[in-house]
Amino acid sequence: MTATPDTLLAADLDGTLIPTIDTPAQRRAVSDFRDAVEGARASLGVAYVTGRHLELAHEGITAWALPLPDFLMCDVGTSVYRRTGDHFEADPIFAGEMRAALGGRNAGAVRAALSGLEGLTLQGETQQSDFKASFTFPWSQRSRISESVSAALSASRLPVDLVTSRDPETGLGLLDALPAGGAKDRAVLYVARLLNLTPDQVIFAGDSGNDEAALLSGVRGVLVGNASEEVRASVRAKASRLGLSDRVYLASGTVAAGVLEGLSHFGVWGD
Ligand SMILES: [Mg+2]
Repeated sequence: MTATPDTLLAADLDGTLIPTIDTPAQRRAVSDFRDAVEGARASLGVAYVTGRHLELAHEGITAWALPLPDFLMCDVGTSVYRRTGDHFEADPIFAGEMRAALGGRNAGAVRAALSGLEGLTLQGETQQSDFKASFTFPWSQRSRISESVSAALSASRLPVDLVTSRDPETGLGLLDALPAGGAKDRAVLYVARLLNLTPDQVIFAGDSGNDEAALLSGVRGVLVGNASEEVRASVRAKASRLGLSDRVYLASGTVAAGVLEGLSHFGVWGD
């Protein structure tokens, strides 16, 4: 990345750049993506925005030989790391913003407030982080659980935003409780500001429910073709309501091929 890239590509990892199945065709799509991005690197900044924590994000990047990003936004956008050489360092200013957004507390307080709610199960320790608390729940009970979670959070006066999605493999509901005021969208806009880029110069690519806010944040959005019909319909309807239809592209290509298609659509490879 040059000191001042013209464009920032911010892409989700799982289901967007990293396929859920490992086939030769998928490997080829990722390697085409890598070649195209590396060829444009002089003017293109790269960031990944993922639910994974730093170590797991790094593992995914290595396993799929993805281009090393300039920024990594982990834990559903609640942590931001900047790369120097091959080392990633947490951005302390962003961490301060997260703590302030959570009313001076951290995700431990959220886990305590929600522990013991019927139907809600805390995900494993590697899924938890300083400012993100993550749970699973039976998808069929989503409206009841979302009500009881909201009630418990307001009783504890915790300013938290809830992001739910459905695990495409297990069918379970996934719930992330994050500091109020944004998730992946906030991290993406924060990095854009660091790089002096307007939202117009940012392309965000994603595939699922926790990517919606970033896709609809005013940047240029790419929804990859493997997104579920439910997510596609929701993104299409919200983009239209917000007057953002020309800023959100629904790709037909899946995963990395869909991201490349979106970059072409928005003219990143143009001259
Ligand atoms: Mg994803």
